Amino acid sequence: MKIPGDFPSDSSPRNAEDLQFLEEPTDPDRPVLDGLATPVGDDEPLRIDDEDRYGRLRLIPWWRQERLAASKVMVVGAGALGNEVVKNLGLVGVGTIVVIDFDRVEPTNLSRSLMFRREDAGRPKAEVLVERLAQLNPEVRGHAIAGDVIHDVGLGLFAEMDVILGCLDNREARLWVNRQARRAGVPWIDAGIQEMHGAIKLFTDPNAACYECGLTDADYRALNTRYSCPLLSRDDLQRGKVPTSPTIAAIIAALQAQETLKLLHGLPVAHGCVLVFNGVGNLMFQSRLPVNPHCLGHEDRLSWIPLALSHNAAVSDLFAHLRRLEGSRFDPGSDDPTSQALTLVLERELVTTIDFGTNRPPRRVMKPRDRVGLSEAIDPRDGSTGRPITLDRVREGSLEANWALAELGIPARDVVWVERSDGAGAWFLLSDDQPVLETHRAGDPRR
Ligand SMILES: [Zn+2]
Repeated sequence: MKIPGDFPSDSSPRNAEDLQFLEEPTDPDRPVLDGLATPVGDDEPLRIDDEDRYGRLRLIPWWRQERLAASKVMVVGAGALGNEVVKNLGLVGVGTIVVIDFDRVEPTNLSRSLMFRREDAGRPKAEVLVERLAQLNPEVRGHAIAGDVIHDVGLGLFAEMDVILGCLDNREARLWVNRQARRAGVPWIDAGIQEMHGAIKLFTDPNAACYECGLTDADYRALNTRYSCPLLSRDDLQRGKVPTSPTIAAIIAALQAQETLKLLHGLPVAHGCVLVFNGVGNLMFQSRLPVNPHCLGHEDRLSWIPLALSHNAAVSDLFAHLRRLEGSRFDPGSDDPTSQALTLVLERELVTTIDFGTNRPPRRVMKPRDRVGLSEAIDPRDGSTGRPITLDRVREGSLEANWALAELGIPARDVVWVERSDGAGAWFLLSDDQPVLETHRAGDPRR
């Protein structure tokens, strides 16, 4: 399902005083929040059925259960916020919920994550959360990706979503989600918490501010410091431990989930705004985030050509496929293919080998740069540190073109850029034969 009129172009709040969710909707068919009392249409007859799980929800005049059942929401992060968001969206019957997290359950999570149990320790958070979601509401299709949102989630999967929710604790993942959400043309809502404070940011209109609009030079310096060290895996980093409690997580996640419900119903939201809750003084305020005209992340929605090709195919198969694609700019009929070798451009830089100098064999690595630890670059014979050799382009006819796209770090249902030597190119969606959204319902056999 796509939200009708999603990403409206002219529905941003017009000024700071106007930020009361009272703006006129752009779509005349959209329901209007009129004191939350006026039914918005009689297309869905009022049902009072005590056996109906959603009976009380259906009494809300603008509620459309079938619309929620057809919706797909991606929840990035299965920590305290992710637990609360999934609980709320699961209770109300959002049809498909995709949960992404590479972490595993630890005892310290138990004080803030209502869906985790002591016996879950050591298991992937995403899988546990989806399993509990199925128990909470068997009508919801849950899908867990126990992986990293940067490396393990294709752009095509982002594009299948109606809303993306950031329940993250780090800037890099937010930056990535922001860029992918914009490229996919899907609204996303970010949330952050600390002690008794929290905020949500609504990046729900391509013409309003995006996450990256708010990054300062100091933020970019911090991100670049991370990349200036050639080998620094996530494990080597001292991840920030932010003090949080289950109360602030519940408050902020509930706001995030409620804004999601408004978006899914086509109700007006404060596009490009931040909603801040100060739990010390119980103050809540909302302000519009400024658009940075020089923003690096303010990308437009991409358009791509779907290919019946899996990410397990070799790069040479991709090139051969494109050569046969009638009417494309890679079609030999439209140009001289021999003079225009194709190049696959990698979005995620790959460390292929560690070079230990002459007379020593290189060590094959084949991992994204931020997954290569310093320990992997050390030569056990003398403790010297080798040099990472990275790859960001694969040219037609090269040795690397024999490798599978997956080996090059391209996840399932990703969108890849292929260009000719004159720079002309196109985006292609790897529509794998296997559906990514395998669903999990209660009663499914588990490992
Ligand atoms: Zn921006």
